[in-house]
Amino acid sequence: MTMAKKLIVTAAPVGAGTTRAQTPHVPLTPDEIAADVVACAKAGAAIAHLHVRDENGKNTMATEKFVEVVGKVRKAIADAGVDVVLNLTTSGSAFSEELRVAHLPALMPEMCSYDPGSMNWANSYVFLNTPAFLEKLGTKCKELNIKPEIEIFDAGMIGNVEYYRTKGFLQEPLHCQLVLDVPGGMPGNLESIAYLLPKLPRGSTWSITGIGKSHVPMMLAGLAAGCDGLRVGLEDNIFLAKGVLASNAQLVARAVEFGTMAGREIATAEEARQILGLKKHR
Ligand code: ZN
Repeated sequence: MTMAKKLIVTAAPVGAGTTRAQTPHVPLTPDEIAADVVACAKAGAAIAHLHVRDENGKNTMATEKFVEVVGKVRKAIADAGVDVVLNLTTSGSAFSEELRVAHLPALMPEMCSYDPGSMNWANSYVFLNTPAFLEKLGTKCKELNIKPEIEIFDAGMIGNVEYYRTKGFLQEPLHCQLVLDVPGGMPGNLESIAYLLPKLPRGSTWSITGIGKSHVPMMLAGLAAGCDGLRVGLEDNIFLAKGVLASNAQLVARAVEFGTMAGREIATAEEARQILGLKKHR
């Protein structure tokens, strides 16, 4: 009998939009983010997917801020004796395409996000990922040997994945993150999962997160469908239960518990590197 594959838990503790007004638990300063990454690693997260904020707590793609935050995160995890894969965002429709990739060579994370298409985000703004940007980002990932976390928000994006894979901008095996239930994207339901999974290139690994109220249902559905990973964190959902605000570490601990209940062992950061074929640069 073969062992069930180990489950990779990703923490997305910050995000671009979660505010202090929504939850006091969202980490915004470099020190807060570093402390939360350590807490998430201790709770069982193998990967930390990070955004950074400016002095006012607003989303920024400024390279200096990434350097400051990642420096603190790397020091904090080393001091705490924990290990976690760093995955830095490249999203940020309000920023130049140059700036959105400038932190990658500066910091050499093991992973970065890759959003293969544009959409109207929650009826509020255009989540913009131009064809030129996707070619540039794919090329940069290949050059630097940084593995893309390909975030699938909408049905058309899976077709774009096939396009960029065929054109050589995405190198197999791919790792896809199904990010479901953002208004404007695909709903968080079984129909979405059933549509997307058969279209992932053979040999891909995949993880799942549901935004807001679909957070727990999508974790359970993902486990039932044999996902390689779960993503949790205040980027995607701020509640532990109705009316009960969560900390990032609590959300990670719950994902670990769900995985364990489903018969899965939890991957360490080193095991996640092996499963995903990551190159640790520094
Ligand atoms: Zn993100």
